[in-house]
Amino acid sequence: MNSFETELQTRLEALRTQGLFRELRCMDSPQGTRIQVAGQMLLNFSSNDYLALANHPRLKAAATHAIERFGAGAGASRLICGSLALHHELEEALAAFKGTEAALSFSSGYATALGTICGLLGKGDVIVLDKLVHACLVDAARLSGASIRVFKHNDLNDLEDILEWAARKPATRNPLIVTEAVFSMDGDHAPLREIVELKERHGAWLMVDEAHAMGIYGQQGQGLANELGVADCIEIHLGTLGKALGVSGGYIAGSRTLVEYLVNRARSFIFSTAPAPAVAAAAAAAVQFLQTTEGDALRQRLWQNVELAAPRLVPRTSHRRSAIIPLIVGDETAAVELAARLCERGIFVPAIRYPAVARGQARLRVTLTAAHILQDLERLLDALADLKLETSNLQSL
Ligand SMILES: *Cc1c(COP(=O)(O)O)cnc(C)c1O
Repeated sequence: MNSFETELQTRLEALRTQGLFRELRCMDSPQGTRIQVAGQMLLNFSSNDYLALANHPRLKAAATHAIERFGAGAGASRLICGSLALHHELEEALAAFKGTEAALSFSSGYATALGTICGLLGKGDVIVLDKLVHACLVDAARLSGASIRVFKHNDLNDLEDILEWAARKPATRNPLIVTEAVFSMDGDHAPLREIVELKERHGAWLMVDEAHAMGIYGQQGQGLANELGVADCIEIHLGTLGKALGVSGGYIAGSRTLVEYLVNRARSFIFSTAPAPAVAAAAAAAVQFLQTTEGDALRQRLWQNVELAAPRLVPRTSHRRSAIIPLIVGDETAAVELAARLCERGIFVPAIRYPAVARGQARLRVTLTAAHILQDLERLLDALADLKLETSNLQSL
């Protein structure tokens, strides 16, 4: 074997010994509460498809219709000849829904973060990140060349200290604060009202990633900033179209100037083929769907499931109204083993490990959706009780 192969095998072996090795599982079914994985039917508690829209007839119909009208591919980047009417319709729907002047869609949430942060910031700028923000925001901050400061998770005092430090720096532009509305691996919420108050007082800009809030918080699913009444005070709203919206892609919502600027400056937008017609159309259908009574009903189902299951999975005090429920295990290998044993019982809950979370913070990440039924929740609780998982007050429903 040549040295390239040997070197990679050595690195993989190191991952295995640390319990950090990962493998793809081949799924042979649509997204849902029941998924077929490598020939086995599993009860699924792992997806971000919170409203069960990924396989919804209305989204499928929109995608099919778009293929008939516009074909399979967009053919070019948006700025060349790929800016289809469907992309414009999606962006108008997103802006109207979010209550902003404009919106811009990207091929993924990851690309949205990269293009936006690197387009806005450069050397000499300051970016201030919550300790637990998503990898794409960290990568974007690094790639931008800005000085990176990290505040302790949801710690307003630490954030304020950093903003005061930034104000003393000579000749810097406004620092950009970046946080998530609902944190992807812990399910807790950012104190957005207080952060808005701080950023106004210190002349900072604010970007909020609503990946896990879009579609399920707020009056019709506009997000947590909307629910808290601070949406209008946030310069940059980022979100994804691949979680509660059930499709794929990302978006920025904000002022017309911001969107015009990003069309000129966001490299992941400029130098990338436009999302496929089916994707844009299905995402637009999802935005419309959120605003229907059926959308309301699904949100209500989701929150009912959360209310039923969450207090029995984690102590009441540690749970914030969230469809993401982390069962902290700690050790990486132990988390993987627990996940495997749940799998033997026909239940899929992923073991989340470094680098998705800190080392020694491995966990089973349970996500609930609107499509779970009472019996599904009971099966999960029974299986966890069976495994004598050390959650503080496991009870049966
Ligand atoms: C999933 C996620 C993203 C990335 O979105 P994709 O569309 O999957 O690339 C960004 N931010 C957060 C918080 C996420 O959970």
